[in-house]
Amino acid sequence: MPKSRLPYVVWYQNIRPAVLKRDNYRCTSCSKLVSHDKCHIDHIISGRFGSNRLSNLRTLCISFIKTLQ
Ligand SMILES: [Zn+2]
Repeated sequence: MPKSRLPYVVWYQNIRPAVLKRDNYRCTSCSKLVSHDKCHIDHIISGRFGSNRLSNLRTLCISFIKTLQ
């Protein structure tokens, strides 16, 4: 588990938009355009070894997330 969780506001107002912008608002799996409210910012490495650095985050579309569940 990460030592400290980011406050949701920081995540939502700073990190999410930064990841979306870096990925040009496209799903990194299928390149489909996504919007702020219809996307998922995924941790490439989650858990103990993960971080909230942009290099560990990627944009995924909702339909990709559904295939994972
Ligand atoms: Zn996708």
